[in-house]
Amino acid sequence: MIENRDVAVVGGGIGGLTAALCLARAGAAVVVFEQVGRPREAGAGILLMNNGLSVLGGLGLADVLARAGHPLRAATLHDADGGLLAKIPVRDCGPGLDYALMLRRSALHQALLDAVGAEPRITLRLGTRVVAANRDGKVTVESAGVRETVDVDLVVAADGVHSTVRGLGDFGARVRDLTALSVRGMVHGEHPALDGLREYWSPAGVFGGAPMGDGSTYFFTSATKRPLPHAVALGDLTRFRQVWRTALPPVGPILDRVTCFDQLYVTDILRVECRRWVDGRLVLLGDAAHAMPPNLGQGGSSAILDAAILAIELAAHQPVDEALRRYAARRRPAVRAAQARACRLLQLTEAPPRGLGPVRDFGVRLAGRLPKVSAGNGVLQEEPAELYAATVALAG
Ligand SMILES: Cc1cc2nc3c(=O)[nH]c(=O)nc-3n(C[C@H](O)[C@H](O)[C@H](O)COP(=O)(O)OP(=O)(O)OC[C@H]3O[C@@H](n4cnc5c(N)ncnc54)[C@H](O)[C@@H]3O)c2cc1C
Repeated sequence: MIENRDVAVVGGGIGGLTAALCLARAGAAVVVFEQVGRPREAGAGILLMNNGLSVLGGLGLADVLARAGHPLRAATLHDADGGLLAKIPVRDCGPGLDYALMLRRSALHQALLDAVGAEPRITLRLGTRVVAANRDGKVTVESAGVRETVDVDLVVAADGVHSTVRGLGDFGARVRDLTALSVRGMVHGEHPALDGLREYWSPAGVFGGAPMGDGSTYFFTSATKRPLPHAVALGDLTRFRQVWRTALPPVGPILDRVTCFDQLYVTDILRVECRRWVDGRLVLLGDAAHAMPPNLGQGGSSAILDAAILAIELAAHQPVDEALRRYAARRRPAVRAAQARACRLLQLTEAPPRGLGPVRDFGVRLAGRLPKVSAGNGVLQEEPAELYAATVALAG
């Protein structure tokens, strides 16, 4: 049981804030340590699949998120000429769980921060960096040059792909650079080339995105194939545009809306795998445990699922060690399967063997006709309707 226990959550990102909410609903006293002093516009847009939405809905955030975003019931994959390769419907998992949502990351973050602010069992300490933590639940933080140490019953490491806490415990962690670059941005207006959730598989790599429901459009591109990495390294927007305009003319007007390279978010794609997610009172969650390529749109939702399942297992089982064992046993294989798929998809989109792009596209066209192909088959990890009910039940 987690009721009345003291929990420290390291990191106030998607995973950490959701974990704080779920654990507080289950009765824990939670302090969130976030190194950043002021929440910022983090990384453009985000696609939340219905598994992640089920938890956020269970926390009472469905309406605020629906108002902030754009619901999507299918994704379409296209070749470089715009021809349809496949249409992938979002799996209908019941009322309110039959769509994915595209929205600004800042809107998601703000919705979570508002919910955290309204929860008396959570203390949010911004501008506070965790510098040490051990398996006995001792956490040392630094804020404005002052250090202090607190003792807690559980330390949730939700501190992202470059996790500090992961490096302090015995997790058997491996971090791999997948030598892939992603570039993301937001532009004003809605654009015919991205009038729904679309992804183009072109010789230059992937270009995709969707409207965000607020009169702007989110786009993402890979920048792994030459000469794109060079253009990105130099911050050369003209060259970047030119490469994409040649590979995929319809996206030209979207990139024309970007006025300087600094408006883009450039990210190296890493894969994190950990043999263990628990070390004493330290437990990993989100990207700290399992960062994956963005190709499935499952990284954020997986962090949200971790948060809910951690609280569900802690609420249902004691001692804490047994609940943590159950959490890791339930989440680790499920996430690994999603992560493996995301990696295969990255390979497929970025690196078809020379000259085999058309063969790949033909295969995708055929696969797209199979009745079972829907966004979610095999990647949702948990049954969304059940997760929604279990999240609601946390508040008891
Ligand atoms: C290019 C790209 C596109 C993506 N698109 C999608 C998408 O469309 N849909 C989706 O579901 N996922 C997507 N993802 C994945 C998603 O962004 C991540 O999986 C998600 O943000 C992970 O959340 P998190 O809370 O685990 O980590 P983070 O969001 O990284 O949060 C970690 C937090 O911890 C804080 N922190 C770090 N160290 C410390 C410390 N020592 N002390 C205190 N605080 C600390 C950080 O400041 C940060 O706020 C994408 C990822 C990439 C790279």
